Amino acid sequence: MITIGGIVVRGAAVDAQTRCVHYAGAVDVVALRFRCCGDWYPCFRCHDGAVAHERLVWPAADADAVVALCGCCGATMTLAEYEAAPECPSCGAAFNPRCALHHHLYFA
Ligand SMILES: [Zn+2]
Ligand SMILES: [Zn+2]
Ligand SMILES: [Zn+2]
Repeated sequence: MITIGGIVVRGAAVDAQTRCVHYAGAVDVVALRFRCCGDWYPCFRCHDGAVAHERLVWPAADADAVVALCGCCGATMTLAEYEAAPECPSCGAAFNPRCALHHHLYFA
């Protein structure tokens, strides 16, 4: 567990930029908030390994919900902002383009 800008990121995070034991590449610097519990994790595997409940994805109607955190600068993004951002709007850190493959695990 780590804390970035007052936000607690749970799970098997291995460094201060939210890389975890599952995703530890140079561009794996985003933590996500989960709709089911409202808690932040580096990835869905961290979430699923830490809790006993079923993961819920964010519906498109929650576009204004704060769902993503940049591990580089601590900026938070709404669902709409994160989906439109190939990089952090605040610090320009590139996000992993392969995250799109896992989009359905987090968002409807
Ligand atoms: Zn949850
Ligand atoms: Zn993980
Ligand atoms: Zn940033």
